[in-house]
Amino acid sequence: PFRPASRLAKLQVSEILRIGARAQELKAMGHPVIVLGAGEPDFDTPDTIKDAAIRALQAGDTKYTALDGTPQLKAAIVRKMARDHNLTFTADEVTVGAGAKQILYNAMMATLEPGDEVIIPTPCWTTYSAIVEICGGVPVHVPCTDDQGFRLTPAQLHAAISPRTRWLMLNSPSNPTGAAYDADDIAALAKVLAAHPDVWIMSDDIYEHIVHDGFRFVTPLQVAPWLRDRCLIVNGVSKAYAMTGWRIGYGVGPRPLIRAMAVVQSQSTSNPCSIAQAAAVEALDGPQDMLAIRRDSFTQRRDLVVDRLNAIPGLSCRRPEGAFYAYASCAGIIGMTAPDGQVMQDDRAFCSWLLETTHVAMVPGAAFGVSPYFRISYATSMAELQDAMVRIAAACATLS
Ligand code: PLP
Repeated sequence: PFRPASRLAKLQVSEILRIGARAQELKAMGHPVIVLGAGEPDFDTPDTIKDAAIRALQAGDTKYTALDGTPQLKAAIVRKMARDHNLTFTADEVTVGAGAKQILYNAMMATLEPGDEVIIPTPCWTTYSAIVEICGGVPVHVPCTDDQGFRLTPAQLHAAISPRTRWLMLNSPSNPTGAAYDADDIAALAKVLAAHPDVWIMSDDIYEHIVHDGFRFVTPLQVAPWLRDRCLIVNGVSKAYAMTGWRIGYGVGPRPLIRAMAVVQSQSTSNPCSIAQAAAVEALDGPQDMLAIRRDSFTQRRDLVVDRLNAIPGLSCRRPEGAFYAYASCAGIIGMTAPDGQVMQDDRAFCSWLLETTHVAMVPGAAFGVSPYFRISYATSMAELQDAMVRIAAACATLS
């Protein structure tokens, strides 16, 4: 009989995928489903990027590439670091994998001993703790509340550090809350790290370009350059350039770490797709004007969603600084009863009731470690968002 490895004991199929599958079922039954669960932009990959892929394909760029990234792509990433963050790196401080997710996986596989701790400000992207667990580490979740803007405070960081701490995982702007850390926030956290030279920092910058109201994104090394010998910057083309399916992410960090991560990748997936790498060069080097256009469109959608949610009795939603997620509280409807007798016991019950009755799919906060909340991904059209908000408001009005 099948016997799963014990390292998988605490892991399950992602709740987001489960909800997505149920939404697909309802759709197949003919229901007008609106999915506000997906973590990807609804835009298409820009044509200039697609054209670069076609050219690469036609030029026979179809073989194995250098193990953890082509020289061309590493050079483009070095240029991006200089252009966007005023940081100077060389190609051997860069590694490329099949998505930011693989970069994170390589980093944890390359560094964690059994029992090593990783501090994860929570609500968090579930993948962080799952990867830490697969790699034998222990996720240390630090709850960051609504009234602290869902951001880790220096005091919380200080209290969470133990002799076993290897990493702090920082994600700004954040999935699932959209909260972002400004330069002062990061400087204050860095000050705590100054007293703990063995604690490394992983900065997941994947949503850097999706920021609202003129928020100024900074990556920690811009504020605390002295963290350079223990900082891994994680980024990729998935969200900024609407390239989730191409699977290209990258890491920038100290050479010994980058080399160790390459060993992990060399014995698992080898190089990321040659054609996708060529496309990523164009994404990073080519025209960047669509970033602002798409960002403004995300801001409009955010405002629609946040304003509408805040007008619904029982719900409340902080206006996030970035990404394309809002993390709304449903504290005011917990304990209420639907006309069919269903009780809104928790955020899972609320989200599943909404999916079944209104056909709007969202992910309960429980999936991200903080309840009673739900995450809305607003990477969908204004028309669909409007429709979804009308349905949610109407459904909530039936609760008593
Ligand atoms: N980091 C965060 C915070 C994310 O939300 C996601 C995707 O949902 C990723 C990384 C992964 O991106 P990639 O497609 O590059 O693996």
